[in-house]
Amino acid sequence: MFAKPFLLKPRTVKDTGIRKTVLDEPYTLAPEGGALLLKEFPARVKVGDPLFQQSSGTVLSPVNGVASLAREENGTKIRITQDGTFPSRKEPQPKRWNKQDACDAMDSLGIVSLDFCEKPLSSFFRNSVPPKIILLSPYTRTQNIDFGSRLSEMSDCHQAFLQALADWFPGVTIRDYISDKKPPVREYSYPWGIPEYFTYRTERIPFQKFSEALYLGPETLYHLYKALFSDFPFIERDASLFFLGKNGGLRKAQKPLAFRNGQNLKFLFEEFQNDFRWFTLNSFYENHPVRSVGESFYFDIRLHSSLILLARHDANRSEFPCVECGECSLNCPTKANPMALVGFRGKFQPGLCMECGICTFVCPSSISLRDRIRSFKEDRRGV
Ligand code: SF4
Ligand code: SF4
Repeated sequence: MFAKPFLLKPRTVKDTGIRKTVLDEPYTLAPEGGALLLKEFPARVKVGDPLFQQSSGTVLSPVNGVASLAREENGTKIRITQDGTFPSRKEPQPKRWNKQDACDAMDSLGIVSLDFCEKPLSSFFRNSVPPKIILLSPYTRTQNIDFGSRLSEMSDCHQAFLQALADWFPGVTIRDYISDKKPPVREYSYPWGIPEYFTYRTERIPFQKFSEALYLGPETLYHLYKALFSDFPFIERDASLFFLGKNGGLRKAQKPLAFRNGQNLKFLFEEFQNDFRWFTLNSFYENHPVRSVGESFYFDIRLHSSLILLARHDANRSEFPCVECGECSLNCPTKANPMALVGFRGKFQPGLCMECGICTFVCPSSISLRDRIRSFKEDRRGV
């Protein structure tokens, strides 16, 4: 019937962002060192089955299939060959949650804070010391996707959650910049999505006291509401796709793409490899390494929020001497004076620096001020 073997390949439906995926390369998850495996592998798994536990919480199976362990040079991997369809999400049913049950549900549905991905979200609510203030922010770190607007379409869930917060933390001030208070800037600009910056600029809470606040960004809330009100596990994340052309122009794909955890991005790279041979992740401010699209790459929903395909990349580009332009200190949103780190007058103020990366991004000499900032802070630790 078919001239060639009939292979079903994952593809993106043009202009919709909807991904059709059937029998892809195995999904691959990389447990961190010391993670606790929760199954005897190989094992048949279903979407949402717990696979392993690590410091950021429980990681769930993103698909139905057969999971096995692969021991590799750079650590153990879990590979899952998919053999079933994806479940669809149920209509949300706003309901009342008590704190204990909600925290248990967050853990079993693998919900993490996407504002601070190193901890399970429940740990912020289980904390025995209640927060001094609760802040609900409309901005994700780089605001590539407007989750604030998505939440306005889930207003019943949002109101139910606000009620739950009021029950769980009686007397604690809740500042809701999603549906109640006016967002502080009309047009999002970086670094408003950095939690410490948002909290300082809206509530005047200094960085050193940030841990006294409970901060919830809109992407975290979006996945939390899907979990609490639609019983949907955290197994996929929408990501923006950017194209950086040969002449430096940056273009954003019309719609975000939904990636499952551990999904191999080969299908996407193959589609664009004639024009885009490198890629990097999340944002230029974050300084992720540039990789070749020929390398295997598996999307990690806890760590990756955007993909930037690059038409050119100068792997040998190195730092040039500082030209004393002052752009780094001028553009620093917190007046931390990073210019002092390259030997100029004044003092660098580590307590004011939130490592937003703006100084590195604007430096015309490609000086990685953020690396210098990190070693500066590292050296001072324990002093
Ligand atoms: S010193 Fe650099 S990384 Fe730190 S806050 Fe200022 S611009 Fe951001
Ligand atoms: S932006 Fe770069 S070149 Fe300009 S003063 Fe800062 S470190 Fe020097």
